Amino acid sequence: MSTHQRGRELGMDRPIARRDFLNGIALGVTAGVTALNSAQAQTSSALPAVAYPPSRAGLRGNYPASVEEFELIAEGKYARSAILDADIQEQYDLVIVGGGISGLSAAYFYRTALGPDATILILDNHDDFGGHAKRNEFHFQGKTFIGFGGTMGIATPYPYSYCAKALIRELGVPVERNADFLNRDLEQKYGLTTGTFFDQEHFGEDRLVKGNPHLPQFFAQAPLSETARKDLIRLHGKNRDYMEGMSLDAKRAKLAKMSYQDYLLNVAHMSPDALPFFLGNGGRNNKRVDTTPALEAAQHGLVGFNGLGLDLEESFNEGSYLFHFPDGNASIARLLAAKLVPAAFPGQQTMDTIVAARVAYDKLDDPDSKTRIRLSSPAVRVENDAGRVLVAYRRAGKTCGVRARHCILACNNAFIPALMPEIPAQQREALAYPVKVPLVYTNVLLKKWTAFQKLGVARISAPGMYHPATFLDPGSTMGGYQGVTTPEEPILFHMTANPNKPGLPRKEQNRHGQQELLSTSFEQFELKIRDQLARMLGAGGFDPAEDIAAITVNRWPYGYAYTYDTLADPDVPPEQRPHVIGRQRCGRVTIANADAGAAAFTNQAIDEAHRAVQELLLIEGLT
Ligand SMILES: Cc1cc2nc3c(=O)[nH]c(=O)nc-3n(C[C@H](O)[C@H](O)[C@H](O)COP(=O)(O)OP(=O)(O)OC[C@H]3O[C@@H](n4cnc5c(N)ncnc54)[C@H](O)[C@@H]3O)c2cc1C
Repeated sequence: MSTHQRGRELGMDRPIARRDFLNGIALGVTAGVTALNSAQAQTSSALPAVAYPPSRAGLRGNYPASVEEFELIAEGKYARSAILDADIQEQYDLVIVGGGISGLSAAYFYRTALGPDATILILDNHDDFGGHAKRNEFHFQGKTFIGFGGTMGIATPYPYSYCAKALIRELGVPVERNADFLNRDLEQKYGLTTGTFFDQEHFGEDRLVKGNPHLPQFFAQAPLSETARKDLIRLHGKNRDYMEGMSLDAKRAKLAKMSYQDYLLNVAHMSPDALPFFLGNGGRNNKRVDTTPALEAAQHGLVGFNGLGLDLEESFNEGSYLFHFPDGNASIARLLAAKLVPAAFPGQQTMDTIVAARVAYDKLDDPDSKTRIRLSSPAVRVENDAGRVLVAYRRAGKTCGVRARHCILACNNAFIPALMPEIPAQQREALAYPVKVPLVYTNVLLKKWTAFQKLGVARISAPGMYHPATFLDPGSTMGGYQGVTTPEEPILFHMTANPNKPGLPRKEQNRHGQQELLSTSFEQFELKIRDQLARMLGAGGFDPAEDIAAITVNRWPYGYAYTYDTLADPDVPPEQRPHVIGRQRCGRVTIANADAGAAAFTNQAIDEAHRAVQELLLIEGLT
């Protein structure tokens, strides 16, 4: 069958909400519906659904137009010219570059410290605020479906600092009430479990196997060679001590310096035939089997280590990620924006109203507001100048300038050297050290999910396929939003990918994944998505041409902040780490963003914002 025929069979020619919007033509799904389904829907924006940023489908996340300037900034185009006084049109107390959780939190802390009259401008390169905290909205059959396009959970394995906890509390989010909102019943009610999809490319045939890999019968049904099957059953059961004779300290030291893949193959003596099973598997920050240090894999609870007698001090609590709003941490960004620019929201916002609130995007940058959020406006140059900071940014094809008393860079730290050429060499080198982790969060709106019910699965991992982690996202029932309850109802299906290039060092893999994401068209993503869904769910009667109502691909070439590990980074004292050297104040400019904390978590984004504000207050003798 030709690629074209296969594409037609998969429904590539069907009108759904996706690239169609990019051409300005609203087809199918969102046209005409602007408000949330419930009676609580609060309208205030004049924008029709398709122009409303959270409703835009197709390529989202760091969508192409949002990052057009990044390449020019990185190439040094703007570093060569000085910011001319003639460009300066406005003055603020504070300009923040980056409207993610860190930038929004910085505005909140600054205003709390200096009072409501402080004037603040937040610049962001996207058409929506929140950075990685992005909301995907779909309107279909008179109902609204809300998904998370980026960061999802507000809890982390680490305890929040006092200041991060206090901010979350001031936003009115009682994390402990999570259980009240979760749509847990679905899996129980319909007897749904997890599944693993073995694909033909890696396992010789397409086969969905239901159940838990820790049960021996699981591997009995999988398309594997006898050796691979035996090895996988052994590794998922009680292991012997593969490092017998070594002290615990020696075991730890050795595991810290080898990859999980090396451990499986060379220490646990797993057959290479079994390796494809681990392709979707890794440790923190989406590291893969070949880039995860074996010790981290052990701490993460991955298989193969339980005979070693390791006393694992850290056990990753996946359960802590359960708390989420239907749009994930976009609700945190929205709650922050509602505090900063109340006129853009319909009334005072709480956690019970924020999910249904419709943002008046046209009011975010209102001249009457002391804090303004200016979207689609990438900063291209930042400069200390005679006791003030000049910031140049691009908007609608023009370079504009603002002058400010202070500036906080809450943007990708790796771009800062190009934004601010005056930064000293050692700091520039440190800022350029990390390489963000590329990620894809895809949301597919399915017209129904009877195929999942027939197959008895709610989550499917597909090691080796483009999206190795996939699950039904029934949404939590909160704030006027009603989660999905029956298989005949439309539902969001969430798919995660982590493009990389196995075999290369971790940073090289990240760079490769970034380039891959930046050069993959929506049509290429769509084909992969339809093909994966058809193959995983075909036996349940799923028809991609008929059953898909909309697709939003949130591509994040500039995804997770880079974190260090024992395999890829030198072991240096904490104060000599690149992120610590990189985040030093430069004149009246301080540096926030999760990158400055070398941790990809909400609390880190908040903590770095707090530190960046404190450093500015210190200049003024205000702390
Ligand atoms: C897919 C994904 C899932 C995640 N899941 C979780 C999770 O569940 N829980 C969790 O705690 N954390 C999660 N994270 C980590 C998340 O990055 C942090 O929690 C946090 O949201 C980062 O906020 P930030 O403001 O520091 O950075 P960002 O969210 O990246 O915001 C920075 C903003 O600055 C903009 N910017 C960059 N350069 C410029 C410029 N020159 N001019 C103007 N603007 C610019 C960026 O484009 C961006 O919009 C996830 C991250 C990703 C990518």
